Order: sequence, then structure tokens, then C-alpha cells
Amino acid sequence: MSKKDYYELLGVSKSASEDEIKKAFRKLARKYHPDVNRDNPKEAEIKFKEINEAYEVLSDPQRRAQYDQFGHAAFDGARGGGPGGDFGFGASGGFSDIFDMFFGGQSGFGFGGRQSGPEKGADLRYDLEIAFEEAAFGIEKEVQIPRTEECVTCKGSGAAPGTHPETCPQCKGTGQVQVMQNTPFGRMVNVKTCERCHGEGKIVPNPCRDCHGRGKVRTKRKIKIKVPAGVDNGSRLRMAHEGEAGTRGGPPGDLYVYIFVKSHKLFSREGSEVICEVPISFVQASLGDEIDVPTLDGKVKLRIPEGTQSGTIFRLKDKGIPHLRGNGRGDQHVRVKVLTPQKLSERQRSLLQEFAKLDGENVNPEQKNFFKKVKDVFGV
Ligand SMILES: [Zn+2]
Ligand SMILES: [Zn+2]
Repeated sequence: MSKKDYYELLGVSKSASEDEIKKAFRKLARKYHPDVNRDNPKEAEIKFKEINEAYEVLSDPQRRAQYDQFGHAAFDGARGGGPGGDFGFGASGGFSDIFDMFFGGQSGFGFGGRQSGPEKGADLRYDLEIAFEEAAFGIEKEVQIPRTEECVTCKGSGAAPGTHPETCPQCKGTGQVQVMQNTPFGRMVNVKTCERCHGEGKIVPNPCRDCHGRGKVRTKRKIKIKVPAGVDNGSRLRMAHEGEAGTRGGPPGDLYVYIFVKSHKLFSREGSEVICEVPISFVQASLGDEIDVPTLDGKVKLRIPEGTQSGTIFRLKDKGIPHLRGNGRGDQHVRVKVLTPQKLSERQRSLLQEFAKLDGENVNPEQKNFFKKVKDVFGV
């Protein structure tokens, strides 16, 4: 089966901006979401999946470039990185958009459209901001998640304790009623959703007081989130069954925790590597010294050899961030910044002038080499 062009699916041009693609996708996703297409759920579901796939690719600059170059062949056989795994690190941004859109919606990802079967609850998203060190070494955080849960009093049935939901007398439990119509072509049978039970097939004569017959209640649930060591900005943790309550006995949705790491005053990071800039004086750089360097584990001593240039990077092994999966840690990279003195006393000035005189007799080979190149280029 030949696949449709992703740009055509979203109805945008090949030069469309990220924003245009996002807008087009949102519009189509609303139109084709199976929950709003009760008339033709099967077709809507196929279409919905197609535009989702198109968006997943076109919203990711790297994958879009691959697609532009190779077409669908770019992803043959190797469609990874989707949702589902315990950790969807750096996975497609596409799904977060879908969360935004259907956040707290009736059925989230629950395809199917039919009203009678059990339906999985909606997935929830929680943005968790943590400190740099917490991301490095992991942390357990207790947070409050507003969500819908099954009513404890009636165990989700919606019926007051001691009573039960009853089969709807109007539709005899089918959720549908047949309406006869006389037309010029004869009698036609129209099937409609039962108005008495709204298609549920059951009614609750004595509604539960705690949930008013809905079988669900809104609560703020305290949840412990175990953030593993090594997570980074944009990491996503999936907590199964911690989302919204399901419907008609369906399982709860999942909770997706998105990690945001606060920046640090001293450190930055690239993956598992920690980067830290340390200022040293030009005297320390010239003569060498032993300095204290901050690390995630506290101060350590670092030897600066004599004649160190500004920008030199020293590596402190295993002082970086623990690897998320697997053993060991990254390194810390210490970049020294040699400071040029700014306020000199008379004495310092004359000493430096004397130094310059001596240095004149002993020109740095690197400097000599540079001016030779200048001469080569400009002939002066
Ligand atoms: Zn209840
Ligand atoms: Zn009914």
C-alpha cells in the first residue's frame, strides 16, 4: 500500500513553518478525533492515525529533514522512539501536543467510539521542576495531582450503597432505540442513541450521594514521583495507571511526568558531562598553582600546570552526572579563564613593564608564528 504524502495529509506546503504545521495538525486532529466522529468512527480513526504520524515526523526538524530527503523510505523498518516505554526520553514532541489538546478530556486516547464497552481513562501530564543536583542524583518528590478517580462509596457504579444500577427500561439495556419512519419508499428503521440512559444501557434509580451518580469524583491525589538519577531537561517519566479514572470498568489512564531542570549557578551540563568555568589569575596561569574546584560532590583540588592558557579544559574523571541507565558517571570539564588584571598599582605597573622588557628578548613562539602568518597574508 503506498503511503500518503505527509504534507498533503496535513494540507500544508513543503515550506510550511513549524507553526503552520502545528496549526494544521491541531485543526485536523480536532476534526478527526474518533470521539467526535460517532457517525464514522472507523474511518476517522484511520485518518486520525495518519495525521498523527504525519505530524510526528514533520514537527521534528531532524525527522522532517530525513523525510524531505528520502520520503517514507526514511523510516522503513525503524520506527522507534514512540510512546509506551517506561522512559520516553527525548521522544516525539507530537504526543505532548495531543496531551495538551485532550488533557482532561473524556477519553484521551481511547479509540473505538462505541459507548458501551469499558474505556481507558485519559492520560495526564504533570510538569515537574527540579534542581540541577536532584536531576543528577535522583529524588523522590511528593506532588498533588488533580484528577478524577473512581468513587469509593459506590465503587464506580454510581448507585447509592445497597442499590444497583438497573437495566434501562426504554432500550432494554442496548443503549439504542429503533425509530420507525414512514417514507415515500416504505418504512425505514432508524437507530438512535437511547435518550433515557444516554446510550449506557443502564440507569441509576438511587444515585450515590458522593458522586451524584457519576461513579467518579474529582480529587487531589498525593503521588510520590521517583525521579531516577541522571534525568535531564525534557525527560519524560511514565507512571502507569496514575491518570484519570476509566469509564465502565476500564483501566485508569497513565500519568506522564515531564522533567524541567533548573539552571545552576556554577554548572551546566551536556548529557552526563558537567561543565564548569573557573577564573584564575594570570600569575597562577603563568607559574602554575593548585586550586579548589567545585564539583557535585564538593570541592576537589586541581593542579594548574605552569604556562596554562585561557580556555584550557581540564577533565575531572567521574565527577559528572550518573548515567541514566547503566553504571558509571560522566566527567566534569573545568574550563579555566585567565583574568587580566584591571586595576594596577604603580608598583605592579612598573614590574609588568620590566617584565615586558625581558619578554621582548624572549618572544613567545606562538605569537611569532601568528605575525608570520599576518605577513604572509598581507605582505606587511
Ligand atoms: Zn459514588
Ligand atoms: Zn436506555
